[in-house]
Amino acid sequence: MEVYTKKSDDNDAQYLLTYINNVLIPSSNEFFILLDDNKVLLHHAFSFNAILAHAIDYMVFIANKMSKVKRKDFIFNFDKQYSVDGCVHINNKFRLLDAVNNSFKHVELNPKRYSDLIETYGDLTFHSLSAKDGKIFFESPSHAFDYCRVVMRPITAIFKCDLKTTNDVDDFINGRVYGCTGYGYFDYDYEPHDAIDRMTDACGSECMDCGEGGDDCDCPNFIYDGKKAEFAENLDPNFDFEDVMSKISGTREFSK
Ligand SMILES: [Zn+2]
Repeated sequence: MEVYTKKSDDNDAQYLLTYINNVLIPSSNEFFILLDDNKVLLHHAFSFNAILAHAIDYMVFIANKMSKVKRKDFIFNFDKQYSVDGCVHINNKFRLLDAVNNSFKHVELNPKRYSDLIETYGDLTFHSLSAKDGKIFFESPSHAFDYCRVVMRPITAIFKCDLKTTNDVDDFINGRVYGCTGYGYFDYDYEPHDAIDRMTDACGSECMDCGEGGDDCDCPNFIYDGKKAEFAENLDPNFDFEDVMSKISGTREFSK
């Protein structure tokens, strides 16, 4: 469902563009260096979480001028509209990001406003996030996972779609353009010439839940809704080891 269809005010759109391009993306670049090195501390996570959550406020501001929309509905819609990819166990990434930000800003969350999240995760407080060996964990009685990799990483990817104009901003707010982590997309010809690429991709495929390779994926230690998680490999569903191997050796025979 689109929030509005007309063109928004150029100055408002410019505000969001400046924020995304001059604040959000540069800070994400710094944040992901820390994340890659497992050197994230609690203040890094809360700071970058606030920067991401603030972008929501800008978008609600623009959307509200075009059409009456409640902030809660807007964020709910955003989660649906983008169906933020990455970890399938957490299907309300924008709402959770917003709730974590508000639990950081306020001592207590408004239980009415976040009733659905509280039902899923239990009470959300400043202590829902904690640092452990350079990673930041979201922990509740039913859940335990790497919050930066599972929630903030795919949300950041949404903002990386080269927005430049007011039309881009309108398309973005209404879910018509957005970035993604690219999981599940395999652009192969399925011919001998791309067999080596297919094998390389399959052997090095990363985990869709945390973005790490097989050796670094920590997902077997995570818990979603009381259940243990596992390495969620981003593997082409058409990948057949024997078939790809035979095409690779066929290519070698051919090139002799
Ligand atoms: Zn993983």
